[in-house]
Amino acid sequence: MAQHMVITGASSGIGEAIARQAAKQGKKLSITGVEAEGQVSGLLDDLANLGADHIDYRQVDLSDARAARDLIEELGALQPIDILVNNAGIQHVDQIEDFPIEAWDRVIAVNLSAAFHTIAAVMPVMKAKNYGRIINIASVHGLVASVNKAAYVAAKHGIIGLTKTVALETATLDITCNAICPGWVRTPLVEAQVVARAREAGRDIEEEARLLVSEKQPSGAFVSPEQIAQMALYLTSDAASMITGSAFTLDGGWTAQ
Ligand code: NAD
Repeated sequence: MAQHMVITGASSGIGEAIARQAAKQGKKLSITGVEAEGQVSGLLDDLANLGADHIDYRQVDLSDARAARDLIEELGALQPIDILVNNAGIQHVDQIEDFPIEAWDRVIAVNLSAAFHTIAAVMPVMKAKNYGRIINIASVHGLVASVNKAAYVAAKHGIIGLTKTVALETATLDITCNAICPGWVRTPLVEAQVVARAREAGRDIEEEARLLVSEKQPSGAFVSPEQIAQMALYLTSDAASMITGSAFTLDGGWTAQ
């Protein structure tokens, strides 16, 4: 039977790239996004054409703890979940004294608490069958900070801690839990920051994108969503069964400085 892989926030960017790679491996895919199903119908067709065994799309707001737990329980009832990728994430940029309370709560809820809830909900099934692969898409901001991203940096540091705890609680089982820490990847999440900065500085968007990358990432180039996807799929493989509790940077040298 095809492995059942759940990917949150797979309607665009990194999650979408992971879904596309997983489809090529013939996985049974359950993916989520905030968009209505009609908005992602092209992607769902692509995943089927790439070879996904079955595709289930759920529109869900993972800032709601109950919705996160219900999602996993409902998807697990279709077929026990083998692989869980906690990828959904949002950003808010403001200096700390101006950071709206609602923005703080929402970033922490989507980027950190949702992963706690999905992992807690999937754990009994993974433990019962002694198999599971959990991948949390963290960020270089799980390891280092940047100004004006208090909630994001706190959430991403938190998810690396959560990753380690889950790894320890499952260490004697064939269950692994790891984090991936991308540097700049040019997805809609980052494009919004590029556009906002370009507007403020009165610069061309492509010039702003080059400036944004070169400030932090010595490679001077974006990491591609496909490169993150390849790492995620590697972590689901048997070759990676002894890798657990780790955080992998794909950051063009960002955190080497
Ligand atoms: P993206 O904006 O392209 O995709 C975000 C996904 O999350 C979408 O599928 C969206 O529907 C979903 N989402 C948004 N709000 C949600 C909510 N409230 N509930 C449920 N789902 C929600 O972003 P991306 O850049 O592909 O980011 C994916 C992950 O990678 C995030 O966790 C992000 O923090 C992380 N990341 C991104 C970068 C980067 O440079 N793009 C770098 C490091 C880490």
